[in-house]
Amino acid sequence: MSDNGKLTVPGAPTGHALRDAIAAKQRTAEEITRDALSAIERLEPQLRAYITMLPDRAIAKARDVDRRIARGEQVGSLAGIPTAVKDIFCVRDAVTTAGSKILERFVAPYSATVVEKLDAADAIIVGKTNMDEFAMGSSCENSAFFPTHNPWDTTRVPGGSSGGSASTVGSGAVALALGTDTGGSIREPASFCNIVGVKPTYGRVSRYGMIAFASSLDQAGPMTTDVRDAADLLEAIAGWDPMDSTSVDVPVPRYADALRTDLSSVRLGIVREFEESIAGDAAMAQLYKAAYADLAALGATFVDVSLPHAKYGLATYYLIAPAECSSNLARYDGVRYGLRKNGSGDVFSMFEQTRAAGFGPEVKRRIILGTYALCSGYYDAYYVRAQKVRTLMKQDFDAAFAACDAIACPAVSCPPFPLGAKSQDPVAMYLMDYFTIPMSLAGIPALSVPAGYVNDLPVGLQICAPIFEEARMLGIAHAYEQATQHARRRTPAAAATA
Ligand code: GLN
Repeated sequence: MSDNGKLTVPGAPTGHALRDAIAAKQRTAEEITRDALSAIERLEPQLRAYITMLPDRAIAKARDVDRRIARGEQVGSLAGIPTAVKDIFCVRDAVTTAGSKILERFVAPYSATVVEKLDAADAIIVGKTNMDEFAMGSSCENSAFFPTHNPWDTTRVPGGSSGGSASTVGSGAVALALGTDTGGSIREPASFCNIVGVKPTYGRVSRYGMIAFASSLDQAGPMTTDVRDAADLLEAIAGWDPMDSTSVDVPVPRYADALRTDLSSVRLGIVREFEESIAGDAAMAQLYKAAYADLAALGATFVDVSLPHAKYGLATYYLIAPAECSSNLARYDGVRYGLRKNGSGDVFSMFEQTRAAGFGPEVKRRIILGTYALCSGYYDAYYVRAQKVRTLMKQDFDAAFAACDAIACPAVSCPPFPLGAKSQDPVAMYLMDYFTIPMSLAGIPALSVPAGYVNDLPVGLQICAPIFEEARMLGIAHAYEQATQHARRRTPAAAATA
């Protein structure tokens, strides 16, 4: 790595290319897994994308896949593909921290449903990735352990909260990763690390075994090198789960069948309020104009749509998410999970000391905010009112989708920023999710796909669709990706040394 933070990244293999190589018997799952593990090892000193590596589990699984292929047995849809998992998902017998000191030594007694599904699809889980503590943040700097760095420029943040997953996929070390998105935590880091990140419809993917932040918003989704991989990974993890009463029993389509290469007869909504907001930054506005021109060249037509309540998105989110987190995080009391500090001997001092020592400043800020918003007397004024605004936001999207098939809009307001630039200013950090929060509040699917560069730093285009229309959304993103190939470019240093 040179002094200016530019990193030489390996060529990014896609998961489907690796799967094809295994199927054609050109490579074994074990070779591919060992390559991924050594790429991670080589890059970790600069990136710090992982909290826990699982090399033994990965090699054992890869050998099992190879054995079954050698015997001519059927293997899963992700067989032999190295996959990273955000450390918010329980993986049986592995340390699962959610980026927090309070769970530093917590060993999960069972696996999340999505992890079981990855195992059933024969993906190779290589490790658990770094994240903002309990998924609260937009830069990965709120991890209780260490910040993760951006593979495009290691002096910059990878985004958050799924920063470790974004960084390791962006570096080319692994093709697939799982993240979670409550208000933007898949889409913003995907944009910052030049990868594809998909937040599915709320209820599309099981939350069982995924450590809860804000239960009415949290959703797991794919973070991948390209759209085809995102389609395959989403298909593998989606579906109804009897263990999660908020998962929905809607059939999972073959998403790969929806991938298209032109956009004729597609009507895309352009959000008036978002365009007014991005217009203040000439370089960003220019990039998105170019993206819309590329979509038009593929045959899409545009419709002007309005999301009049989007301006209340942040205020609404920062009541609902803290309120739900204050309730969800009440369980970390020193009695049942992880850390315990004994205090002065009585149980209340044990609770206090454990939570004082175990939670970081952002988590404490949110617990205090959320507890306040839920107090009797304030509950109607804050929480109930925020829920009403949420309904209005959902109605805004319903009205917009009456006139268009999908919406194209900015994913972020800026390219990745330097480490430390916003870490002392919570509100500046909250503003990072301005373009992603409305979709989370409405529960609709949304993704970020690489859209080009501002000052040599990657920026993503957001595409969102009506509930359960992930196939349509992925199809549009695929056409755009194939026509533009923005993810293909490598960092200047990598290109120079290639
Ligand atoms: N950045 C937002 C927050 O801090 C969203 C995080 C997320 O989606 N998990 O809450």
